Amino acid sequence: MRWRNGGGPPRVTRSTVRSRHRGGFATAKPPRQRGAQRASPLTPLSPGTDRRIHYLISKGGSEALLQALANAARAEPPAADFGLKVQRLEATDVILSLARKNLGHHLNLTHCLWVLRVCASSVTAGTALGINGAMELLFKVITPYSKRHVRTVRAAIEALAALLKSKSNSRRAVNIGYLRGLLRLYQDWHHNDVSNNYVHIRRGLLICLKHITNIQLGRETFLDSCGMEILFTSVQDCLSCKNLDPIVTTVTQILRKCYPKEPLPLPTVRSSYSFSLPGNVRTEPPCMLLEDDYESDGEEEVEKDLDNDDDETKEEDDDLETDVNKLRSRPVLDRPEEALKQYEAVCPELSHNFQSEEEKSSEDNTENLPSTPSYFIQSATSVKHQNIQRTQSVTVMGPDPGEEDLKVPLQSWTKKEKCRQAVQDADSLEEEDVARSHVLTLCPLPKEIAWYKKMFNTECEASINRSPGGRLKTSDMVRNLLKKHQGNMPFHSPCFYIARAECVKSIPDYKFLAFPDFWGHQPPPYGKPMLERKYGVQRDKVLDDVRRLIQPGDVIGRTVFDLDEPSLGAPDCLTFFSKFESGNLRKAIQVREFEYDLIMNADVNSNQHHQWFYFEVRDMKLAVPYRFNIINCEKFNSQFNYGMQLVMYSVKEALQGRPHWLRVGYDISYYKNHYRSCAAAAGGMRRKSYYTLAFSITFPHEDDVCYLAYHYPYTYSTMMSHLDILEQNRNPKKVYWRQQTLCQTLGGNPCPLLTITAMPESKKRDDLEQFYNRPYVFLMARVHPGESNASWVMKGTLEFLVSSDPIADLLRKCFIFKIVPMLNPDGVVNGNHRCSLSGHDLNRQWLTPSSQLHPTIYHTKGLLYYLRSIGRTPLVFCDYHGHSQKKNVFLYGCSIKETLWQAGCMVDTAVITEDVGYRTLPKILDKVAPPFVMNSCSFLVEKSRESTARVVAWQEMGILRSYTMESTYCGCNHGLYKVSKSLALPRTKGLQLGTQELEEMGSKFCLGLLILHLKSLPCSKKVMAQAALLLDLEEEITDLRAHRSVIGVFRGFSCRSSWWGCILGLDSQK
Ligand SMILES: [Zn+2]
Repeated sequence: MRWRNGGGPPRVTRSTVRSRHRGGFATAKPPRQRGAQRASPLTPLSPGTDRRIHYLISKGGSEALLQALANAARAEPPAADFGLKVQRLEATDVILSLARKNLGHHLNLTHCLWVLRVCASSVTAGTALGINGAMELLFKVITPYSKRHVRTVRAAIEALAALLKSKSNSRRAVNIGYLRGLLRLYQDWHHNDVSNNYVHIRRGLLICLKHITNIQLGRETFLDSCGMEILFTSVQDCLSCKNLDPIVTTVTQILRKCYPKEPLPLPTVRSSYSFSLPGNVRTEPPCMLLEDDYESDGEEEVEKDLDNDDDETKEEDDDLETDVNKLRSRPVLDRPEEALKQYEAVCPELSHNFQSEEEKSSEDNTENLPSTPSYFIQSATSVKHQNIQRTQSVTVMGPDPGEEDLKVPLQSWTKKEKCRQAVQDADSLEEEDVARSHVLTLCPLPKEIAWYKKMFNTECEASINRSPGGRLKTSDMVRNLLKKHQGNMPFHSPCFYIARAECVKSIPDYKFLAFPDFWGHQPPPYGKPMLERKYGVQRDKVLDDVRRLIQPGDVIGRTVFDLDEPSLGAPDCLTFFSKFESGNLRKAIQVREFEYDLIMNADVNSNQHHQWFYFEVRDMKLAVPYRFNIINCEKFNSQFNYGMQLVMYSVKEALQGRPHWLRVGYDISYYKNHYRSCAAAAGGMRRKSYYTLAFSITFPHEDDVCYLAYHYPYTYSTMMSHLDILEQNRNPKKVYWRQQTLCQTLGGNPCPLLTITAMPESKKRDDLEQFYNRPYVFLMARVHPGESNASWVMKGTLEFLVSSDPIADLLRKCFIFKIVPMLNPDGVVNGNHRCSLSGHDLNRQWLTPSSQLHPTIYHTKGLLYYLRSIGRTPLVFCDYHGHSQKKNVFLYGCSIKETLWQAGCMVDTAVITEDVGYRTLPKILDKVAPPFVMNSCSFLVEKSRESTARVVAWQEMGILRSYTMESTYCGCNHGLYKVSKSLALPRTKGLQLGTQELEEMGSKFCLGLLILHLKSLPCSKKVMAQAALLLDLEEEITDLRAHRSVIGVFRGFSCRSSWWGCILGLDSQK
């Protein structure tokens, strides 16, 4: 509909309004009094005087009134409901006619326009003004371009911007052709305002455009009118001048909004990997992406996004469980009672017969495993405080097999056979004859042979003959590498890794090993501070993206890697690869010479959950900054905007003795892009926006092989080979260790269950009794495969638990640890971020896990049920996770009272009694673990979390201390790691966590458990004495609990590190 020639829109005249609302004036509310002086200009509008005003106005207008209104309108801030009041008083039309009459009188006109602007801040008033021709009037004032009466022009533009907030006004403005007019006018101002004196006018015009392009019709017309080109070109002149930031920001917002929406460049968003589920469970059909799904729906580009970070970030109070009966109920068993009997087998510690211990201990050594790294599990240094002096008597212990320097050739290693056997057993169990005894090869190493020879054979450096193709055979390479690489990586063995990796079952049936997982990672000597965000980095990236559309000259747009088309290869570009354990990269598109768009693969049997990436890149040039854009991120925000970097591993660096995953990348930015999913892909909901993670990297070497990942990778094979090393290197006289298979996963990988405690002191009845009656602690990790940080924390826990550290020794005497170190092996193997092969989030299945679809959850829960049924409910339950939106490390627990209080419910404390013991462990960790922050902990029970491990273990098993431990992917803004240790950058924001800090967190968690035990459980004098001895506090041990005021008096104890002070001090804080 166009009104331009039809005499304008239907007019609502003053007389019609008045006749409709006769007598309505008296009911209008008086304007809010805003102080004695301020009240006077508005007084004429108070009830009772309105008729007089109308009379005055009808007689030609009153200067005084206009002045009063103008003053009121200019008052900052104007009363929020001013416009509404004016409309109620039916004065909008009056003001409009005043403006019309004053078109020649610029001072009066300006005053009218100010009033108009404020009136238009009410959308209803603005809409009425629009209907009555306000925009036509304003357009007459602002066009054509002229520098005369700038004040009036500015007032008109601002009033127009206010009017265009109304969608119907915007629609009308587009129909009349004002969008093109505004663009032309903006260009005129831009070209003529060389000294930047009229920035407010230019910005005002941009705000008009910004409001108009909120509607679909506006965006379409903007594109048809070359709006993208006009704004993109003009903004180039503004980038270097900081005063013009308001202009650049607004232009960037408009360009982003109007960039034509597209589906991801994929045939389907569904994962490239699919898995047919057992039974009759059907997976959803793939969702095809059709071009015409786009730009059809959604009138408005809403900037609101769903927070789909399910990692317990939800803080809305309405999600809290407020049903007291539900909170206090104890659900019935989800399976027949008889089914629990089977878990007796995975509690061998309860029936262990130590009388035949000689036999057992010899069995421990019969496997004659090689000790490639030959690393004796030392006292976990991370727990030791430098001021703590240990007495010799505590640290001295018998010879340990780990100390012998075992160097057995690879071929004699029998574990590999054992592992193969296990795989075959698993196969026959499933009646599925899959002969998967494949041999894995290492991804080819850097091409440059000269360099390789230099590394390993210095004398023949001068006489190098290139073999045809320039590559060495991988097997020779590996053999030579291993010869060179003799056990200097703590807790890692390449041979163990290969052996384990060969047994892994994956959907893509991996043929290659990623070098970092095979070779190992050593934490670098220094932690890296969080990245300082460069000014304007995001807008630079966005403008660069828009440039693809405006200046497509240098756009290549060539797919160079595609998981669905493995044969793809292209010259003169980077080479990508991701088909290895935990690998995730689906597609790479070379956008420009040194810029690549990357697409992550969805979780198996799913069309979402993109966050984790891990891929190989090679054939890079030296000293060239490469830009990468990961274009299908889903979360609305990311720590990448707050100092987090991704990690990189360089093969050349590793071979030169620096095998590190390092935090890398600069110009990092995370922002919403123009890709949208179709409604079907978003689960039938509104179509979903995607986000880009953009970063730049300059690689350290030419023709290197580098690996990039979201976070420090930790594969299933890494875990399995780590367990092999731990088992082999523990002291069997002291450490009771059993590794069993809890169950097979859907994908046919064993899910290990560990039991760790101390061997009984002797075979005397009392000691055996003590052994059998130790309370349980239940730990698990990595239910979410993308949360590799959880595995590093678990690694720290495990290494500490089996270590010879006297604190660990004491801790083992206090507890029996049941540990499931990786609850979702299939997800980890196949590079998922969140789900298992069933496409389900396993941490939402705890209420009613299916034995078929969620076996690891089903059996872990079964084991917990079993322990409860025999009266051995664990004292502490903790599930290790990673958190992508927050910094530091913290716990989520469960409390009825805190939940009800938070929800604002009345709590009858007489009826609800609750042990506050759930707060003790986090309080201890706040003192002993540097990255841990008590203030970030929460003990609320949310409805949306009712099926998580934490809530189910608390509610169904009755475990008071049931927790989720969340570790940041980023770093710390609190505590010891708030300040970077690096001397080069003394004043930085804080440290990004490295694997060392994550592992330390795992060991400090153990220390926290010991202190919890000393505080909360009846301890024998012997244990207390030992604990005191460890800290060289023999004198103070007597009457320990009575001396609470002595905290901090002990020499050499800082508040944070003093675990002993912690024991003493926490009681008083309770
Ligand atoms: Zn998680």
